[in-house]
Amino acid sequence: MTERFTGSFTQQEPIPEEGIAAAVRVMQSGRLHRYNTVPGEVAETVLLEQEFAASVGAEYCLAVASGGYAIGTALRACGVKPGDRVLTNAFTLAPVPGAIAGVGAVPVYIGVTEELVIDLDDLAAKLDQASVLLLSHMRGHLCDMEALMALCDAAGVTVVEDCAHTMGATWNGKPSGTFGRFGCFSTQTYKHINSGEGGLLISDDAEGMARATMLSGSYMLYTSHAAGPTPEEFAELRYQTPNISGRMDNLRAAILRPQLADLAAQAGRWNALYDVMDAGLRDVPGLTLVSRPDAEGFVASSFQFLLLDWSAAAVAEVQSRCAARGVELKWFGGAEPVGFTSRYDSWRYAASTPMPASDRVLAGIMDMRLPLTFSTADCALIARIIRAEVSAVWQAGN
Ligand SMILES: *Cc1c(COP(=O)(O)O)cnc(C)c1O
Repeated sequence: MTERFTGSFTQQEPIPEEGIAAAVRVMQSGRLHRYNTVPGEVAETVLLEQEFAASVGAEYCLAVASGGYAIGTALRACGVKPGDRVLTNAFTLAPVPGAIAGVGAVPVYIGVTEELVIDLDDLAAKLDQASVLLLSHMRGHLCDMEALMALCDAAGVTVVEDCAHTMGATWNGKPSGTFGRFGCFSTQTYKHINSGEGGLLISDDAEGMARATMLSGSYMLYTSHAAGPTPEEFAELRYQTPNISGRMDNLRAAILRPQLADLAAQAGRWNALYDVMDAGLRDVPGLTLVSRPDAEGFVASSFQFLLLDWSAAAVAEVQSRCAARGVELKWFGGAEPVGFTSRYDSWRYAASTPMPASDRVLAGIMDMRLPLTFSTADCALIARIIRAEVSAVWQAGN
């Protein structure tokens, strides 16, 4: 009998009971806005900021409306202006070039390696084209962060990290998001903690964070930001910084706090699923697994493999055969953007020059989420299905 997978790649776990109870308390209070507190009360939003800052060892944290908003705010706080160029990854998702375009700036794409990280040689060659790098740790793959920071520091390029897929991850033990001037996280449903929409911005830079806080719509209430800079930092900025409202509310923060407390345990569960996928897809002719350096402490909420140098028709054949057995693979090489997936040359509002070496990698990337509603047995089954279908198409001559 042909095995079929019947689970859903988009089904998250429920919000923990503790989060639901906290959310109900916030709703009963009626005080959902972060600045609406009674004397002596510390808003859930502020508590979340303090807890997140402590969890990554950052000086400051600001909770905002989305990951994309966190990125846009970080770029603004770094002084990115309309018409400026911003370096970023060719292998990423639409909110990243979108955040750059949102501040009127222009993305300059840096290539991707077979390890699915930013190509440091390509970066070195383009560092003179911009003063900010928006580094996307796409699908949770971390590049050699010491090497990247050394390159950027030497060139005077400010780094903003997009950590939408690396909440809880580390490089040589240092949390992702603490290398650059800002780290930007998302709490959207498909990320590592789930409030539907939401974002977290971290930094050790007092002036940058004061700017970001004013930008997020703090009015003159920034003194309540216990995980924010001291009031002196706002003395001048408060008059100079526009309010571009994008705050997080107490309801989302209440839902997120118990999830944050659970993050390390959840990361362990994600990585157990990943290990089963990785083991199940070893030694499949034509299929390349992504090697991961020892320095990388990853949180594998998704899984990628490569069908390098396969024809588009053969990749599409693997995709449709797997889909027929319930395994939805996303393909970054597809000519048309589909679902959440798109390629740098499909963002036509931002001109790009062809990058043949990266195009070869992108054309081979197969991607899937590993939601925690999957069991290790589910992952073993998914791996068996992929192994069988990749082998069948490979043997037929791709
Ligand atoms: C989800 C995501 C974002 C933005 O997060 P939102 O909260 O959805 O705005 C940024 N970068 C990447 C790579 C993402 O996947």
